Amino acid sequence: MKKAIYTLAFIGTLYSCKTTQTPNQDEPVIASIDLVNVENDKVSVEINPDKFTTANTTFYIPKTVPGTYSTDNYGKFIENFKALDYNGNELEFEKVDDNSWFVPNAKDLDKVSYQVNDTYDIEGEEGVFSPSGTNIEAGKNFMLNLHGFVGYFENEKEEAYQLQIKRPHSLIPGTALSKTVAASTSMEFKEDIFSLKRYFEVIDNPIMYATPDTTSFMVEGMEVLINVYSPNKKYTSKSIKPGIEKMISAQKQFLGEIDNTGKYAILLYLSDSETQDARGFGALEHHTSTVVVLPESMQPQQLEKTMTDVVSHEFFHILTPLNVHSKEVHYFDYNDPKMSQHLWMYEGVTEYFANLFQINQGLIDKQDFYGRISDKIKTAQQFDDTMPFTEMSKNILEEPYKDSYYNVYLKGALIGMALDIRLRELSDGDMGILDLMKALSNKYGMDKPFNDEELFNDIVSLTYPEIRTFLETYISGSTPIPYQEFFEKVGLTESEAQVNTGYFIKGQIPYIDGDPATKELFFRENIEFNSFLKKLGVKGGDIIKSVNDEEYNIQNVYNLIMTAESWEEGEKVNFVVVRDGEEVELGTTASQPTDTETTLTEEELSENSQEVKLRNAWLKG
Ligand SMILES: [Zn+2]
Repeated sequence: MKKAIYTLAFIGTLYSCKTTQTPNQDEPVIASIDLVNVENDKVSVEINPDKFTTANTTFYIPKTVPGTYSTDNYGKFIENFKALDYNGNELEFEKVDDNSWFVPNAKDLDKVSYQVNDTYDIEGEEGVFSPSGTNIEAGKNFMLNLHGFVGYFENEKEEAYQLQIKRPHSLIPGTALSKTVAASTSMEFKEDIFSLKRYFEVIDNPIMYATPDTTSFMVEGMEVLINVYSPNKKYTSKSIKPGIEKMISAQKQFLGEIDNTGKYAILLYLSDSETQDARGFGALEHHTSTVVVLPESMQPQQLEKTMTDVVSHEFFHILTPLNVHSKEVHYFDYNDPKMSQHLWMYEGVTEYFANLFQINQGLIDKQDFYGRISDKIKTAQQFDDTMPFTEMSKNILEEPYKDSYYNVYLKGALIGMALDIRLRELSDGDMGILDLMKALSNKYGMDKPFNDEELFNDIVSLTYPEIRTFLETYISGSTPIPYQEFFEKVGLTESEAQVNTGYFIKGQIPYIDGDPATKELFFRENIEFNSFLKKLGVKGGDIIKSVNDEEYNIQNVYNLIMTAESWEEGEKVNFVVVRDGEEVELGTTASQPTDTETTLTEEELSENSQEVKLRNAWLKG
């Protein structure tokens, strides 16, 4: 899946997943991609399959890909499609829908060719989440999320593929793929060749071409590659390496003995806030890599913290869905996907681990961890708490369920937490949800999917009979989780406290929103503002025209957020807002904004109490 940073309603957010099957012995499908002769920001692609034995065929570009949980229609970005015979003559074809092309005469079909347009420079990116989107910037950067470039023929998804990528000398591939052969090399270009067992591997291995900026390090036998594209050279792979190394080492410690990859690539694309560029901030996971898109304008400390939260989430997907997944995920149908009921596990438990490992390994303190849990409880209140998670998951591509997608990172993670506490309680501290996930991973693994409707039985048989009640009440049932009951088990209580917030965001909840039609930014209604906004005199519905004479709209909202972070205490700040059609000037001085918030505090209990014992097992076990 994906993971998004700021949940401003107008900014897409996501994550990702994957699948597996048996390879085929025939000649590979040759996919040629030309990154040298780029015309009008479009890349030419040819797909040359083995000879057809069927009378006709259909060529597909994915409608959706694993882990995004959204319908994106990557075929919309394909232009100038041609079906060619062995003499290079054009054959007839029929465009069936956005993502499929029917060729009635397959016997004479040698190959298809087309041009690909990228998503990053389209305003709104047609709803495609940037970490699964594409970038074409001749001579500078190519983000090859290959599902946007390479398609497949009917019944040929299991054929082997050979990627032949022609690229300028100045750009190198960042990818977890290792067999790069620089085949024909000329003065003008080089050609990289990658061999892949099946179509799934093609899309499971994104490649980012950029000027060389690669750093690597080893963690307990695993090589981690970091590739960075920073358009204004603000960051380098070396500058972000220390934070990543600390985080991945901690993750490996937390996971302990577990099968995983020998190589992991982090492809970081930093987007330029000043130009039309990627705006869906977050990441998408793959088996051996992740694509991360963040604003280049982020401050170093914030970038490190965000990378820790985002990349650790993607890395934990190694557990699920990568090693524990249902048949819907394993035999993914890119053009007619069936969804699994268990997003609570794929995304929720993964997100929970991305927070739990940080307290477990001492990267954050307890109060920070409790604050994150409280934030999730509060933010989850924006969604229907009685919608059964399994039902939402099964129907996540449809209305009204798809609007609840973001809740998989909130309530999904809280389900993980509550299940973890319940397991600790039943096992007297010995077993937690990480033990459960490892047991499921041993039982299944990458190549053995489970039946969607049997997962609960498996979990019960690996844990305790009482767990069935939990699963059927809070995951497939419509009963909201009584969080206070779970907190009592570990000696925590909820209480009100004053907390620091950002100027425009509190935790993950922004005080502002944007109108995609007019591009205007406005203050949200029905929200309690922080101390700074109250002092400024803002009213819900006020449209932000300028701040300190700089004009803002949804295009440069991140600049506003980042600029505010650097305001000095006592500095004069002037807003011009539009209220009821009239411009209104508002002025005050910058000061650390605060807001009241429900937080978790530890009860005064003896170290020997059952609650403290369970709490220690939960957080440090
Ligand atoms: Zn995810």
